[in-house]
Amino acid sequence: MSGAPESGKKLYEGKAKILYATDNPDVLLTHFKDDATAFNAQKKGSIRGKGEINNAISAHLFKLMETKGIPTHFVELPSPTQMLVKAVTIVPLEVVVRNLAAGSLCKQTGLELGSLVEPPLVEFYYKNDAMGDPLLTIDRIRLMKVASDEDVATLRSMALQINDVLKEFFNQCGITLVDFKLEFGRDRAGKIILADEISPDTCRLWIQGEPDPKKRVLDKDRFRQDMGNVEEGYQQVLDRVLNNPSA
Ligand code: 5GP
Repeated sequence: MSGAPESGKKLYEGKAKILYATDNPDVLLTHFKDDATAFNAQKKGSIRGKGEINNAISAHLFKLMETKGIPTHFVELPSPTQMLVKAVTIVPLEVVVRNLAAGSLCKQTGLELGSLVEPPLVEFYYKNDAMGDPLLTIDRIRLMKVASDEDVATLRSMALQINDVLKEFFNQCGITLVDFKLEFGRDRAGKIILADEISPDTCRLWIQGEPDPKKRVLDKDRFRQDMGNVEEGYQQVLDRVLNNPSA
């Protein structure tokens, strides 16, 4: 592990990150790994420098959210691959927002890749690897008691607000925000805040004005679809994010 050593017990190891306890029970340490998985971990690999890049992009975007009044779990970066975050209980829903059709939306609806989704679509997936993160309906969420109606309304409204901020920010970077996945947690006071990460692992990001569908993709689809130059795509997102004139 590069940078500062983890300060406490390993609490959880996910596909892209490891979570450690710290001396402060309200704060946890996330280590961003270079490991990459796709298709529910059926495809495995490593993207050199990904941990550092995703940590830096996520930190930048979490700070941006805070300036817009959207609460996040971000505390600070103790090292290039580590983020200190507020301890939360993760809501077991993956919230996906879509501005253009891609991925599973195209597969499941027949919509053409890149067609406009207006108004943006907010979808809820059950965060459960064993079940393959299935798409839920509001009625199923209610039936399963995964979240209350009020929580679902909060998640939807926060996701749309985050979409507005991200869409504008990436637009200023010359990047189109196609879709992305968010995770939320409940802090000690019970408040729902943005958690996890916002990075090329969790967003589809296309270079604007690039007609070649293979060249325009900067995100994890380069890995998923064996398009090559994965590191270069992630690095380009970081460079554009850090050089955004509004940042
Ligand atoms: P799709 O449903 O089309 O596969 O994914 C929609 C968006 O959410 C994409 O930007 C994708 O990267 C993100 N996403 C959905 N599920 C996951 C997941 O389990 N892990 C990651 N890293 N991203 C996800």
